[in-house]
Amino acid sequence: MEYIGFTYVSNFVSKRVEEVLFEAYNDANRLLEEWELPLRLVYLDKLILEPGYLITLETPEGKVRLFPLDVLVDFMDYRLKVEIEKNDGLNMNKILGITSFPLASRDKYFGFYEKFLGFQTERLGRRIMLLSMRPFESDSMRMTLKILDNPLADDDLKSLAVRVLSKELPAFKRRLIKGMLHEIGHSFGLEHCSNDCVMNPPKTLGEWDSRFLGYCNSCYLKLEESLRNPVSGKD
Ligand SMILES: [Zn+2]
Ligand SMILES: [Zn+2]
Repeated sequence: MEYIGFTYVSNFVSKRVEEVLFEAYNDANRLLEEWELPLRLVYLDKLILEPGYLITLETPEGKVRLFPLDVLVDFMDYRLKVEIEKNDGLNMNKILGITSFPLASRDKYFGFYEKFLGFQTERLGRRIMLLSMRPFESDSMRMTLKILDNPLADDDLKSLAVRVLSKELPAFKRRLIKGMLHEIGHSFGLEHCSNDCVMNPPKTLGEWDSRFLGYCNSCYLKLEESLRNPVSGKD
């Protein structure tokens, strides 16, 4: 069995979204089990970053405060290294982290659809994957979360927001799971495909919603093969 460390950057994540993250984590593991893939996610605690690492970037959506990719990769790599050094017998050299803000390095903002899904890199054989949940949030999800966070919003508005959110969050969760499976696929050498499959990246959120929640036959076989015969030292 191979394991992938799972974490999330908890800064700026609301309680409601946090719950969905854990549901997505559990659902992903349940799917991997159903598909008889010898692969599971292991929760490695959340990452809480000091605000000092925050940068402000001018983006097409306006000014955004975020943690740069480089910092996140360092933290996640360190977290994975600590876990590997414990050497408790888990076969694990990958970590997947989720953030609530857009992915950007110190000077490069990854456009919404230009880099719709995640970012991943390799360090000394350790694979670090980062996925932003931001592109998976619909406008109404973002708006309702804002209303619920606002102490001045009135009760009627809040109860409306709760109703809207109860419809939005399940869709958000499915998008997120697909994104996680997409990045996991890449980390085992899968490339983009053009089938009804999580490895087929979307151009719009609607396209992503209609996409099958799982790997197509050809991607599944490649993933299974790669899990059976891990190629070490290869990207
Ligand atoms: Zn991709
Ligand atoms: Zn595929």
